[in-house]
Amino acid sequence: MRVTFLGTGDAGGVPLYGCDCSACTRARADADFRRRPCTALVEAGDTRILLDAGLTDLTERFPPGSLSAIVLTHFHPDHVQGLFHLRWGIGKNIPVYSPPDSEGCADLYKNHGLLEFRRLSKFEPVTINNLVLTPLPLIHSKATFGYAIEDTDGQRFAYLTDTAGLPPRTEAFLKNWRPASFALDCSYPPQSSLPRNHNDLTLALAIAETLAPAKVWLTHVGHEFDLWLNNNSHVFPRQIVVACDGDVIDV
Ligand SMILES: [Zn+2]
Ligand SMILES: [Zn+2]
Ligand SMILES: [Zn+2]
Repeated sequence: MRVTFLGTGDAGGVPLYGCDCSACTRARADADFRRRPCTALVEAGDTRILLDAGLTDLTERFPPGSLSAIVLTHFHPDHVQGLFHLRWGIGKNIPVYSPPDSEGCADLYKNHGLLEFRRLSKFEPVTINNLVLTPLPLIHSKATFGYAIEDTDGQRFAYLTDTAGLPPRTEAFLKNWRPASFALDCSYPPQSSLPRNHNDLTLALAIAETLAPAKVWLTHVGHEFDLWLNNNSHVFPRQIVVACDGDVIDV
């Protein structure tokens, strides 16, 4: 299984519009430091699954027939905004799996075009060609699923954003399931009070310590966390990596 981080940014992205902090200034000068909407591509053999659809150039990145399915974590705009353009295409329908959310986002359900929405249920695995995904409830301001993803070789990876901490059943599932690595929401630098909708670094490190996988990729990163990383010579435990757009993991 191969996972490519196509986007590792929070809703505002890096550089943040109008911000002249050093992280945003650096990202404006050097595209390597940009963070696009949080998205990952998971590939195993011929199977290609897009985790979230916040990139606004999906029609250019993915020619017709190149995606097996799109799997959504939730319906916040930074995770679905790319669908608003894609839906009006012609050709074969694209399956879009999502958590049960009666609202969705704007008129996506009503005017779905070639998107074929399919609702998932928590902890009920779905097989998409040669990948099996188990939806894991997360703690966020909208119905949100992370995913435990396994390929036919038994390789395991989990994708856990957007969330502030983990619900006990999700934590118990992951402790038992033992993914080799996972991607985890880390939107903010350490906060003085407990964050509500996203992990800060303190919460993310606590989750990493509890589940103890070989590698944790921090994603959904906001400019304040990038700024904090620039200003602190923080040494992470060896298994913690701050993901960048374009990073590839062979699981
Ligand atoms: Zn988000
Ligand atoms: Zn900034
Ligand atoms: Zn969100």
